[in-house]
Amino acid sequence: GEKKAAQAPKVLKVGTEPTFAPFEFQKEGSKEFDGFDMDLIRAIGKQLNMKVEILNMGFDALIPAINAGNIDVAIAGMSITPDRQKAVDMSDPYYVSGLVVVVGKDNAAVKSVNDLNDKGIAVQIGTTGAERAAKVPGAKVKNFNTNAEVFLELKNKGVEAVIIDKPVAEYFLATGGGKDYAKIVGDTMEAESYGISLKKNSPLTKDINKALLDLKKNGEYEKLYTKWFGA
Ligand code: GLN
Repeated sequence: GEKKAAQAPKVLKVGTEPTFAPFEFQKEGSKEFDGFDMDLIRAIGKQLNMKVEILNMGFDALIPAINAGNIDVAIAGMSITPDRQKAVDMSDPYYVSGLVVVVGKDNAAVKSVNDLNDKGIAVQIGTTGAERAAKVPGAKVKNFNTNAEVFLELKNKGVEAVIIDKPVAEYFLATGGGKDYAKIVGDTMEAESYGISLKKNSPLTKDINKALLDLKKNGEYEKLYTKWFGA
């Protein structure tokens, strides 16, 4: 028979927004992408025999980039919502999350989202947190491109509160970032699950779901989960 040259693996172009630790972030002074999502998509790439290439973009640019064909998938702690499912394919859920309110450590007045009427709220643009903030009566919502700016606005007292995903708020408080000036108040508001986004009707969607399932079966998913979130 004919000899086949070794085929170079196909490239999986991945978009993310890396100010969302512990899901995606860049360590100070490093351009490398770290975090649970990053480990997960690399494991999926391995499973699919594809070479993973990660691109840094604005959160609100991810879905347009998919639809423009600039990236194959987005993984960015992106919650599965009906609106997004109209615009793109979303994989099976891979992480259960939710939204919380974060305020200044010394803030005794705000105990939940119900105390935020007419107040300033900082959010990342295009997120479910931004959508939730927009529903607060009279709230002055300030949208930022990165979560670093969102938390900085709280630190500088430019807003009363931040609405953001619970695991990200918890990580931010636990790793020192906001320990000195911030705290979480109230219950988790919206239950949300994260999914990987792809172009509508992409043939890759079923491959990604299969890879996710395989990683759950072979214990790799659990290993990554424990690495980032503990037992
Ligand atoms: N989970 C939220 C959303 O999907 C926030 C995601 C993010 O900021 N990376 O909108």
